[in-house]
Amino acid sequence: MRTKVSFWVFYLSFGIWFIQCHSAKEIPTGPPIPTTKPIESSIEWIKIKESVYIHKSFGSFQGKTYPSNGLVVLTNKGVIVIDTAWTEPQTEELIQSIQAKFQKQIGFVILTHAHDDRMAGVSSFQKRKIPVYSTQLTAKLAKENGYGIPSPILDIQTRLSLGNVSVEVFYPGHGHSPDNIVVWLPDTHILFGGCLVKALEAEDLGNLRDANVMEWESAVKRVLTRYPDAEVVVPGHGNWGKLDLLRHTIRLLVSPNH
Ligand SMILES: [Zn+2]
Repeated sequence: MRTKVSFWVFYLSFGIWFIQCHSAKEIPTGPPIPTTKPIESSIEWIKIKESVYIHKSFGSFQGKTYPSNGLVVLTNKGVIVIDTAWTEPQTEELIQSIQAKFQKQIGFVILTHAHDDRMAGVSSFQKRKIPVYSTQLTAKLAKENGYGIPSPILDIQTRLSLGNVSVEVFYPGHGHSPDNIVVWLPDTHILFGGCLVKALEAEDLGNLRDANVMEWESAVKRVLTRYPDAEVVVPGHGNWGKLDLLRHTIRLLVSPNH
């Protein structure tokens, strides 16, 4: 009996080790932790605070499906959306479920950089005359990549308000992409780090196509210096956590084979 149990313990441990090693090596350039969910899965909601939710969508990268985070912030005058869903159909679903779930209009959308997991659904908002804001650089890159044309106001207007809630955008420098910004919610001390910030479960830096791994560390340090009292940090992909996500991102940058 004892031998049988030990055999199974050994067998299971070996299996877990094997899966961990191999899944990590198979996704050197993807966002963290693929999921087995089909790409057409419904939007998922994760409540962080009474008035702040993560909208989680799903997209495909190098043949695997990954989750992606955006934010929905409720105010007394409507809703602020940070980043679209990863695909157009999921953004349509996102807009409809915001209306159904919260019974509020969407005031505006903020895009945190010009990649499809952040802005594939821009046209769904724009056809409803909902303003979509970005920096000049994001707007330029979005146009070049055929992702639509957001209003480039965020270099000048770094604080935006809707009703009783204001949000601040901050450009820390080139990291995951040349245009990546973070969004700070001063009332709730939530920091949306987007793809500049990796989840604790991420074992690599994800999609490095437009990244600058030399400057990325300084960019994360600028965010740490500016928002030392962040209570919640939301990465572009994976689980939300605290400021240790920023330190984990730096660790991955310093020793990429970590
Ligand atoms: Zn990206």
